Amino acid sequence: MMIVLFGPPGSGKGTQAKKLAEKYTIPHVSTGDILRENLKHQTALGLEAKKYMDRGELVPDEVLDGVIKDRLAQPDCDSGCILDGYPRTIPQAEALDAIMNELGKTLDVVVNIEVPDAEVLKRISGRRMCACGASYHIHFNPPNQEGICDLCNRPLYQREDDKETAVMNRIAVYKKQSQPLIEYYRRKGVLVTVDGTAEIQEVFEEIAAALDSLQAT
Ligand code: ADP
Ligand code: AMP
Repeated sequence: MMIVLFGPPGSGKGTQAKKLAEKYTIPHVSTGDILRENLKHQTALGLEAKKYMDRGELVPDEVLDGVIKDRLAQPDCDSGCILDGYPRTIPQAEALDAIMNELGKTLDVVVNIEVPDAEVLKRISGRRMCACGASYHIHFNPPNQEGICDLCNRPLYQREDDKETAVMNRIAVYKKQSQPLIEYYRRKGVLVTVDGTAEIQEVFEEIAAALDSLQAT
């Protein structure tokens, strides 16, 4: 199953994608994670992306389209994947259509996770990350021991672009450049909207129920 998780920054895409990847045994493909991994290894892609990420802006479409094309062509995506953070613009959605066409795949569903701005701000300001990829929230999803990852015991940190100035820009960029995708996918008949304000497990169950009913048809 080819699934796109869509929603504003902090809506819970990464959190839900990890749980869905485990349930449906398909890979979680996060463009944000791919870019951060590249930055960690100081690749040309990572260094180029950093200029945009630190300001809360989008990395140019051409850069991301190439990244996704290579990733979706990997054999572990043969039976589908969960895309998190891509597409984020209409040109990226068009590029994704073309890439999937080329690879003989079809997009089954776009899950739009709706969360209001005030909640997004609370979530992003409390988000803490681990180098192993795990993500927490200081109040809503805290680790067992404050500031320490449950999975690997390393210290947690706050993403540079989760600090206040970049966050406001990321929300504005989402509204201007990404929100039009909701209509784009509604017209294609693949959009499912879920209430992202519920607890993590409840949101997960709502998404899984929607995916299961699609699989049954
Ligand atoms: P995104 O990938 O959309 O940017 P994340 O999955 O990283 O968002 O979630 C943002 C923050 O909000 C994280 O700290 C996460 O633990 C927390 N979070 C995610 N889903 C919920 C939820 N349903 N209720 C409360 N907090 C949540
Ligand atoms: P995320 O982890 O999804 O919040 O993404 C973090 C940052 O990576 C974004 O604010 C962008 O700067 C960049 N990024 C991730 N995915 C994309 C994308 N599809 N298009 C453009 N920039 C992206």
